[in-house]
Amino acid sequence: MTLEKLLKRIDDDRDELVALFQALVRAPSPNPPGNTLDAAEVVSDFLKSKGLSVEVIEPLENAPNLISSFTCKDDGRHLVLNGHLDTYPCDDADRWQYDPYGGTMANGAVYGRGASDMKAGTAAIAAVHAYLYTLRRELKGKLTFTAVSDEETGGKWGAQYLLEHHDVRGDCLLNSEPGGPTTVRFGEKGSLKLRFKVRTTGCHGAYTHKSRSATKIAASVVRALPAITELPVETSDNLGPMLTGSEAEFDRIHLPGAAEVLRKYTVNVGLIRGGVKMNMLPANCDCDVDIRIPIGGTAAAALQAAEEIVAQHDDVTLEVLSTDEPSWSDPGHPMVAAVQSAAAEVLGTPIHTVTSLGATDARFWREAGVPAVTYGTTATNVAMVDEHTDIDEWINVIKVHALAAYNYLRTTA
Ligand SMILES: [Zn+2]
Repeated sequence: MTLEKLLKRIDDDRDELVALFQALVRAPSPNPPGNTLDAAEVVSDFLKSKGLSVEVIEPLENAPNLISSFTCKDDGRHLVLNGHLDTYPCDDADRWQYDPYGGTMANGAVYGRGASDMKAGTAAIAAVHAYLYTLRRELKGKLTFTAVSDEETGGKWGAQYLLEHHDVRGDCLLNSEPGGPTTVRFGEKGSLKLRFKVRTTGCHGAYTHKSRSATKIAASVVRALPAITELPVETSDNLGPMLTGSEAEFDRIHLPGAAEVLRKYTVNVGLIRGGVKMNMLPANCDCDVDIRIPIGGTAAAALQAAEEIVAQHDDVTLEVLSTDEPSWSDPGHPMVAAVQSAAAEVLGTPIHTVTSLGATDARFWREAGVPAVTYGTTATNVAMVDEHTDIDEWINVIKVHALAAYNYLRTTA
């Protein structure tokens, strides 16, 4: 089959592809709590309907991971596709214009929780896996599809588990998290998740002379945190291609300020939990803080700065919840070029190679020494009301993944 025929087939199958995407959005999988059984069934049924076998790996009850592999005619590269089935929770359904689990098609887009992050991407690579299966006699090596159920809460029971226990390492990873179709992403920021715990005696709310207030101390800690965003960031030859020349496009996709934030440490006080009732002086306050680490920075430097803040306050201790250093693959890797040229061909516009603000499961493959590339639709309203993905754009992303994967597997390493 020529590549034009493959692209035409994707256009011809548009209704079937959209139906798959909508079915996936209509299978709620908010995490927490993280039950992805229905979503996994939609993807699994689709792959099986195309003649593929699907292995279900369920290290955590009700959170199955899917693996589907096939080998091609000759030996060659092993490409792994990766997406996730779980989504952010939705606690603001009353503010949505459309049912968050309705998969409504409107304004040329499909709406719903996870429609952007990342049921669009997971449906796209499931379709790509099925297309390439029909073309396997033209290809070399092996293609493995993975869809995991623990991405939103850290990945321990998802990508990390599969890499430790199953043959999903491959020679290269192609991940389909949303970002923006004019960008190929070869790296991402790291993160340091911290809990500042304030503990005092506490007392009756009228006797403020008897105890220090845990919430007041926490407020002081929060006021000190922006110092972390001023930490120095190393630059080196490695980091040159990270964004240079792509700042304007990065700001266009992610709104103004994105290029600046990409290069800095950021601090988000995501959760403050303190006090019991108004007329009691609080004895406890926890602040959960999400620090993102730029390429050229380190989690160790951020942790040291956090420890210095703790040292300046009495009654505060620090718990490290998770640490992920920034990660990146060689921007000169053949898969970066394969995605870049496929996207340029499909979209007819210049394609930028960048790194990303948010974390993806690609970091687990990089940790395992495997080059990892991410490409997907625009991240529209992720974790916000009226999350959606434009269907014309999405169809193009399927084409780009299909072309890139096809060309990568046509070549012997
Ligand atoms: Zn995601």
